[in-house]
Amino acid sequence: MVTTTLPTQAEIIIIGGGIAGCSTAYHLALMGKKDVLLLEQGTLTCGTTWHAAGLVGQMRPNRNMTRMSKYGIELYSTLEAETGLATGWKQCGSVNVAKTPERMQVYRKQAAMARSFGVDVDIISPQRAGELYPILRTEDLQGALWIPGDGKANPADLTMSLAKGARNRGVKMIENIEVTGILTENGVVKGVRTAQGEIRCETIVNCAGQWSRQLGRLAGVNVPLYSAEHFYIVTDTIPGVHPMLPVMRDPDGFIYYKEEVGGLVMGGFEPKAKPWKMDPIPSTFQFQLLDEDWDQFEILMNNAVHRTPCLETAPVKMLLNGPESFTPDGNFILGEAPELRNFFVCAGFNSAGIANSGGAGRLIAEWIIEGAAQSDLWDVDIRRFGSFTANRRALSQRTGETLGLHYAMRWPRQELETVRPLRTSPLYDILKAKGAEFGSKNGWERANYFRPTDAAPAEYGLGRPDWLDWMIEEQRATREAVALYDQTSFSKLLLQGRDALNVLQRLCAKNIDVPVDKMVYTALLNERGGFESDLTIIRLATERFLIITGSAQTTRDMDWIGRHIDADEHAVLTDVSAQFCVLSVMGPKARDLLARVSPDNLSAESLKFSRTREIDVGFARVRAARMSYVGGPGFELYVPVEMTRHVYLALMEAGLDLGIRDAGYYALDALRIEAGRRAWGAELGPDENPFEAGLAYAIDLDKPAWFIGEDALRAAKGMPLRKKLITVVLDSPDAYVWGGEGIVIDGETVGELTSVGWSPKANACVGMGYARGAAAQRVHAGSAVEIELWGERIKARAWDKWSPQ
Ligand SMILES: Cc1cc2nc3c(=O)[nH]c(=O)nc-3n(C[C@H](O)[C@H](O)[C@H](O)COP(=O)(O)OP(=O)(O)OC[C@H]3O[C@@H](n4cnc5c(N)ncnc54)[C@H](O)[C@@H]3O)c2cc1C
Repeated sequence: MVTTTLPTQAEIIIIGGGIAGCSTAYHLALMGKKDVLLLEQGTLTCGTTWHAAGLVGQMRPNRNMTRMSKYGIELYSTLEAETGLATGWKQCGSVNVAKTPERMQVYRKQAAMARSFGVDVDIISPQRAGELYPILRTEDLQGALWIPGDGKANPADLTMSLAKGARNRGVKMIENIEVTGILTENGVVKGVRTAQGEIRCETIVNCAGQWSRQLGRLAGVNVPLYSAEHFYIVTDTIPGVHPMLPVMRDPDGFIYYKEEVGGLVMGGFEPKAKPWKMDPIPSTFQFQLLDEDWDQFEILMNNAVHRTPCLETAPVKMLLNGPESFTPDGNFILGEAPELRNFFVCAGFNSAGIANSGGAGRLIAEWIIEGAAQSDLWDVDIRRFGSFTANRRALSQRTGETLGLHYAMRWPRQELETVRPLRTSPLYDILKAKGAEFGSKNGWERANYFRPTDAAPAEYGLGRPDWLDWMIEEQRATREAVALYDQTSFSKLLLQGRDALNVLQRLCAKNIDVPVDKMVYTALLNERGGFESDLTIIRLATERFLIITGSAQTTRDMDWIGRHIDADEHAVLTDVSAQFCVLSVMGPKARDLLARVSPDNLSAESLKFSRTREIDVGFARVRAARMSYVGGPGFELYVPVEMTRHVYLALMEAGLDLGIRDAGYYALDALRIEAGRRAWGAELGPDENPFEAGLAYAIDLDKPAWFIGEDALRAAKGMPLRKKLITVVLDSPDAYVWGGEGIVIDGETVGELTSVGWSPKANACVGMGYARGAAAQRVHAGSAVEIELWGERIKARAWDKWSPQ
């Protein structure tokens, strides 16, 4: 029974009774929470869930997300037996067809990756695809992926079954009650306001689907999602279509299929999507749909008639148009909001909420109960978004793009195109005029490489990239002369106050009590000893520290550091990213160059490695740090924004006869791999500890103060590694890897490449990646390994410590 009387308090309130809310309720109860209340403005499933198609797939781009979706399928296949309520779950498998050779290549890579994540996947011929899916036109296909464990469910029934499982364990659910306000005190959740009265609580979970953004706004929380119209047709019965007919996807035609009552549900993701510009979305939008739009659906219908000719004559019962929310990067949003303590979000499912909610509900329940995510969930972490992503015009435009990309061929290093340029360095126009081709990170435009003026733009592809030779010139300048990198997008945080040092000592794995002007490379670890961040800190003054961290990590690191400042500590954290640009002057002639524009002594004796100093450059004052991410000699210059153009022009003019060159992030990333530098988000994350990452030098177990993660590191020290970071060098200079390829040792896939790039020293691609399990012990200097490149195994060598000659 759904509860009708309004309680005055609950420990946890879930807002939203769609599949995300009901799964969260189910898992909180399963994990022992007794006082959980779910509030729904209409009745359960009335938002988006009731009209979903119900395809449930398992393939995800990384290990943790795949684990999540596999768990979802296990849950869906057993739930009915537990609750007695049907879910419509059928493990009918899925056939994913490929029309182009490139799509087939990508499938081979995805299949290898999925197998290493424990998903049963087969590459099959067009003929076999036709046997599995008899109404399929196969003559123009290259092949297909067959995933026997995939399936389909009835979204409303599945949700009601989860709700029943939750209620059986004590969760209370109230329908027809709209949350109209969030009560807070000193930045912490205190309860909710409804038309029927207030309810106090300790924790809120925002599972309000496409309403999550406006609900978040009530609490000052940014939940960047936006709705788009999403379509499918439902046909009458079709001969040969039976309940166990697999799900079928034809991404080259942007379409998917599912059997329903002997007919087909066919929908898709048209390349140019149609944002639903309804703001705010009314609370009365319950069990409602939007108007048919056959013009918008035409491209999908034409492709479907081609792929399954039976649709030409099959009677169409309806064209369903329902809004669903999409996010700026196409991943859903999970975690505790950085703006408000105990306010959690589980929303923005980008048309995969039925498939993902089973697992996402468990992840958010664990996060709430344990106080932190229990594995690396960065792909979906709410802290990946800066506050600027709340802009509604930007969200609307980006949604048109992300929905369209759902099935589109995704090329390696493909950049999103909408809402750009947004965050730019003062050098943006100058670099653009010099041929910079930009990529975007956390909204920042960053030069990836510089294209010669007489060269045609590089095309996306799977082989050796068009830009490689241009980038090699940038690498050569870095190794042989001097190159200038605009690294303004670095996040820069200032921590100051009487207790700033104490806070950092507690958070950092290295001793931060260093002389003023010194720079320290260190790790912020979680209690499991995993990397929450890796960063450098400059002690500017006794009680003032400049923290320099990755471009994407501003919100995350602000949150991590901020939440660890105790109420009685005097330490103020400020995001100063927009105050300084960073110009990295890298290469053997970097010192000569600076000597031409600065009277200050920058000799190796005067400014030792990892020391910083304020110096003159041209007419400006900048802070120079002797530090190099790309390896070799170099200086990072921290330049006030308003003087950056001047400093850049002064350096360029002075460096002409030294062979100075602008260089971009592709060169930087490849050279840092060559130099053995790890990157957070690739080699480093919450699931890797410094021993596994080969970064024992970035920790100091004997430092004067205890730090978070120290206990876990002491326990791990000397124990066999669960995995080990290795460097891999391909034998052939003609083979090009992009990242994610499997690492094979003694015939067994033991991990995948986390970062890759071209190494001038090796004259081949190099990469880093983890060898897991026993294989971790079998890689030493130059061990023979193989890399699974587009389904073929190619020869490579691996090192646990690589130092290129
Ligand atoms: C046409 C279409 C086809 C789809 N097909 C698939 C598919 O095949 N597979 C798949 O995995 N996914 C599919 N999806 C996506 C899937 O339907 C959604 O991702 C999923 O239903 C989202 O669930 P939710 O619980 O987050 O949101 P919802 O189901 O919308 O639930 C949110 C609830 O919150 C309530 N609420 C909002 N604000 C308040 C408030 N202030 N107070 C109280 N209650 C509030 C709403 O009334 C609503 O019931 C499809 C979507 C569409 C539109």
